[in-house]
Amino acid sequence: MSEKSKLSKALLYAPENGYDRLPESEKAAMHDYCEDYKDFLNHGKTERLCVEYCIELAKKHGFVEFQPGMPLKTGDKVYCNNRGKGIMLAVIGTEPLSRGANIAAAHTDAPRLDLKPRPLYEDTELAYFKTHYYGGLRKYQWTAFYPEGGGQPADRGTLTLADGTVLPVHIGDKPEDPQFIINDLLPHLGREQSKKPLGEAIPSESLNILVGSMPVEDADEKHRFKLAVMQLLHEQYGMVEEDFISAELEAVPAGHARDIGFDRSLIASYGHDDRVCAYAELAGLFDAKAPKRTAVCIFADKEEIGSEGVSGMLSAAFDKFMGELCDTQGVLLRDCFANSFCVSADVTAAYDPNFAEVYDKRNSAFINYGVGLCKYTGAGGKSGASDASAEVVGKLRRLLNEENVFWQMAELGKTDAGGGGTVAKFMAQRNIDTIDAGVPVLSMHAPYETVAKLDCYMTYRCMKAVFEKA
Ligand code: MN
Ligand code: MN
Repeated sequence: MSEKSKLSKALLYAPENGYDRLPESEKAAMHDYCEDYKDFLNHGKTERLCVEYCIELAKKHGFVEFQPGMPLKTGDKVYCNNRGKGIMLAVIGTEPLSRGANIAAAHTDAPRLDLKPRPLYEDTELAYFKTHYYGGLRKYQWTAFYPEGGGQPADRGTLTLADGTVLPVHIGDKPEDPQFIINDLLPHLGREQSKKPLGEAIPSESLNILVGSMPVEDADEKHRFKLAVMQLLHEQYGMVEEDFISAELEAVPAGHARDIGFDRSLIASYGHDDRVCAYAELAGLFDAKAPKRTAVCIFADKEEIGSEGVSGMLSAAFDKFMGELCDTQGVLLRDCFANSFCVSADVTAAYDPNFAEVYDKRNSAFINYGVGLCKYTGAGGKSGASDASAEVVGKLRRLLNEENVFWQMAELGKTDAGGGGTVAKFMAQRNIDTIDAGVPVLSMHAPYETVAKLDCYMTYRCMKAVFEKA
């Protein structure tokens, strides 16, 4: 190396593509990790299914359900299921909780179409479900065509019958299952529609799912198409129409996670945001070796609609769980929080050369450059951001460098291009030092989002390092 390039290497910051420095020895681990992650995606198409699968995996790794008042010692592994829609797991460290915990908080809800309380209707001899979109989605992406082919929305959720029986409902997953679709206008008649702004071309109230077209035989019956669907649902689930009112049914893309590219270096799937970070946390927690500080992993719900609700990050369910862990050691929760460190594990926007105009290229996260650290999110002049301190950014930067985890800084696009948030500010509100870190995503919030395997793996390495050494 010439004197000149030595100087430049010493003084200038030049992020590198991860493939230029990934040791050969790590390639197999990266591959295996991503195969397990794809299983997680395919099992966890809703927040409830993520919690179910998480418990299944946690039990295999020696976790037991936490009971308030149960004695805990170093190395004990517990989980707390928050109403089947959120979950918190902890591995008790060697140090007391008064020294703080190392926390990683992700969310497992994703943009989708919820069925309305009275979804079923017929119009012009076709039966439909009415939907209400959940989270920030681009409506035009949910009609007619899916890149994977055959990926029509599946219905998943929970149904509570009049007598209180709770039934899980999963339709569309298996090849023999019925499939559903939302239709779009044909281009031949789309002249006026095509002139509309993208956000208005598909109105919310037109996101109606086609569920049937075959009537009951009785020609005198007024609602014979709707009734025919209800008959099938009654046979299958024992339900009547009123039962829809106490159901949570979510329409999500039916396709499974798939490798993308001739080199299979990327993964496309529904729900990377934020299951890609949730799984990284979980695997990091399972693999963390003898954490000094208690390690806590959170799957929160409702992030996509503002973290409200009993299963969202604003809920006191988290404080209750942490408070009860503190009680076992006679520690005050406020002391624990004040000394804790939290990674708000959430995805960030990956630089997309097809839409270069919305990114600041010098401050964007790139595909294959590793986990993206985000000092602040928010909109405009950092509005709504918790804005991690220099010390907090410095702590994570140092840790990741020491552990040889590939990382990069990320900003969510150009300053005034838009904006977004995460659970970071709700952790910071609790007096916990918090920074955002996660996987850069292409086509975020689309029915199929794309991430790079290298970035998934580095995010897992990041979470493991935080649990072991932060
Ligand atoms: Mn997210
Ligand atoms: Mn999101």
